Amino acid sequence: MCLTIPAKVLFVEDSPDNLPARRITIRDSKGERSIIALLTDVHAGDWVLYASDTAVEKISEDDAREILELLEPKSHIDIAMLDGAFLEILKACHTRELKREEIIRLLSASEDAEMTALFSEANTIRQARLRDFFCIHGIVEFSNYCVRNCLYCGLRRDSKDVRRYRMTPDEIISSVYDAVNRRGYKLIVLQSGDDLSYTDDILSGIIRKIKEKCKVFIFMSVGERTPEGYRKMKDAGANGVLFRFETSNKALYNSIHPGQSYEKRIALLMEMKKMGYFIATGFLIGLPGQTVEHIADDIITIKSIGANMVTAGPFIPSDATPMALHPPGSATMTLKVTAVSRLLMPKAKIPVTTALETIESEEGRKLGLSSGANSLMFNLTPEKYRGDYRIYPNKYHGKEEIWEKYGLYKEALSYKMLEKKMAEAFK
Ligand code: SAM
Repeated sequence: MCLTIPAKVLFVEDSPDNLPARRITIRDSKGERSIIALLTDVHAGDWVLYASDTAVEKISEDDAREILELLEPKSHIDIAMLDGAFLEILKACHTRELKREEIIRLLSASEDAEMTALFSEANTIRQARLRDFFCIHGIVEFSNYCVRNCLYCGLRRDSKDVRRYRMTPDEIISSVYDAVNRRGYKLIVLQSGDDLSYTDDILSGIIRKIKEKCKVFIFMSVGERTPEGYRKMKDAGANGVLFRFETSNKALYNSIHPGQSYEKRIALLMEMKKMGYFIATGFLIGLPGQTVEHIADDIITIKSIGANMVTAGPFIPSDATPMALHPPGSATMTLKVTAVSRLLMPKAKIPVTTALETIESEEGRKLGLSSGANSLMFNLTPEKYRGDYRIYPNKYHGKEEIWEKYGLYKEALSYKMLEKKMAEAFK
């Protein structure tokens, strides 16, 4: 489902023939304009949610102000304070590909004025290319067993303190069913550790049953499996994969993923792309020895893969892992990565990661959304398991009510809209 920015109604024209559709004049941050309202009971002074030039829902002033507070950036750019070369790079992203050194320069923004300009430019591009739609997706974390031993992850095989759980296929299916048919979600990620006890056939069976029962896009985030396994899941109806390469620096990758290979991970990602999966990929920010050059290469890698969704979040230290004492990734760098990714990939989906929300709370969500991100991922794992999916401690669970209350297009229309957007992404 999606949320969009509210506007105040200034004037309502009489409806010819008393039809529910009438012209209204609204004012939002971009000024005044005339749109259609599909509402019978709308008056000057009311607040409405509108999309595609149609007001679709009335909303209370308090809720409108809460949404505006969450979604509308309030930055002021002082061009006089900007270094000329920096400004040139921001302008250049509209007409040509940015070079590696330029990406590094943007990621190195340290003055307030530079960062404000970067975030604001990214936000403007998001608005121009994707309008004011903020999409809300859900994630069900169905197992915390893992055969891998990634040094940073709280679910790693050697983490002895983790209370391990596995949801049954019926539990997974009914969680998704509830999220889609009662709460209005249209895109759900099914995530687990690399838990091979769910065979490819079991996962394909789950996907098939979900697809029989509800209209939803399913993204699998189940780690490294064979290409044949991913082919089976695709045939069963899976639409996308959420599969990070974690870092594009081979030496760094190998040093934190014992027994795994960077080349193998990227090759699998490319196979999945060829199979027609919608690709959500990205990396961790704040890994040991990671430099701004590595991060620039990470963003370039995402772009060269042709990813449809960018997911880059800060590393958060997790106790009882070999990286427990390593400092967390920087929220500021995460926002810069979000903004630069938007500059380079104007139409990509860029969610605010839970890890950013965890280090910055509600503010992280707001900052992410005003730095070029355009979606959120809400946790739909059943309460009894949620606390045990502990990839890092104190995971953020935010104010989801306002989003769910006013999430637009909860019905089939929303699915169609998403379907169209996904098709466009493959053009
Ligand atoms: N097993 C699947 C895989 O490897 O793709 C999905 C599950 S894995 C737990 C999901 C993501 O969690 C990883 O891609 C990693 O980037 C992130 N993650 C793990 N430990 C983290 C930490 N300490 N801080 C931030 N993110 C972490």
